[in-house]
Amino acid sequence: MSKIKIAELFYSIQGEGRYMGVPSVFLRTFGCNFKCAGFGMPKGELSNEAENIDPTKYTEYKSLPLVSTGCDSYASWDVRFKHLSPMLSTDGIADAIVDTLPYKEWRDEHLVITGGEPLLGWQRSYPELLDHPKMHGLKELTFETNGTQHLDPKFYDYLLDWGDVPGREITFSVSAKLPCSGEKWEEAIRPEIVREYQDVGYTYLKFVIANEQDFADAECAIGAYRAAGFTGPIYLMPVGGVESVYTLNNRAVADIAMKHGLRYSDRLQVPLFKNEWGT
Ligand code: SF4
Repeated sequence: MSKIKIAELFYSIQGEGRYMGVPSVFLRTFGCNFKCAGFGMPKGELSNEAENIDPTKYTEYKSLPLVSTGCDSYASWDVRFKHLSPMLSTDGIADAIVDTLPYKEWRDEHLVITGGEPLLGWQRSYPELLDHPKMHGLKELTFETNGTQHLDPKFYDYLLDWGDVPGREITFSVSAKLPCSGEKWEEAIRPEIVREYQDVGYTYLKFVIANEQDFADAECAIGAYRAAGFTGPIYLMPVGGVESVYTLNNRAVADIAMKHGLRYSDRLQVPLFKNEWGT
């Protein structure tokens, strides 16, 4: 039986993108190919906020500090925190997922496989998880990805079959990383990969921005994705994993989205739950 290293598994309301407001189970896998230390920092500077957190002081996610700069889910990929993320069997994960549901069976809830970056090596284990009898009632599945990982050919075929069942839908919510993340353009903007997701499921792009300068970068990226054949919708979402940062940006980002005829995505988890771990 396959195992997956799970950073967090919890039930909440989806706060971002297409399924905003929908009751959702979040399966956060461990590991990411990026660090995104530029978020919330002055241009060209990188955050060391998470680096200054002593991992030995923490035994569970819920007690971890929130950060206002850099990646807000730092513990889901920083190896210093790997002791908080158990390796679980797909059987155990399916049991734990269904156990979070209000009626212990799938009704209108949706599953979000997120990270870290969920399309790293764990792709090979997802079919076993999704084929588990307890997962048969699942209808809507989203991968929250940074859009840099090709789908493994076997997983690609598996997803095509999974999504072929009437009533089921797969979504790729692609949060492509702009220079304000601190990541390199050529590694973060991979239009050919996102084009591939579009063949398998409903795919949209979500750019995290704070101002017009970030939007100028988003516009360049949008041009590259469109040139590669990406036809899906585009959301702009404010920077800000904590309320003090989010409220500085949200209105300005909504205005930029309206001005350019793009979709605005909130981060409902920030005002509703203060973006605490497990929400
Ligand atoms: S891609 Fe996402 S999980 Fe990975 S470092 Fe960036 S913000 Fe964090």
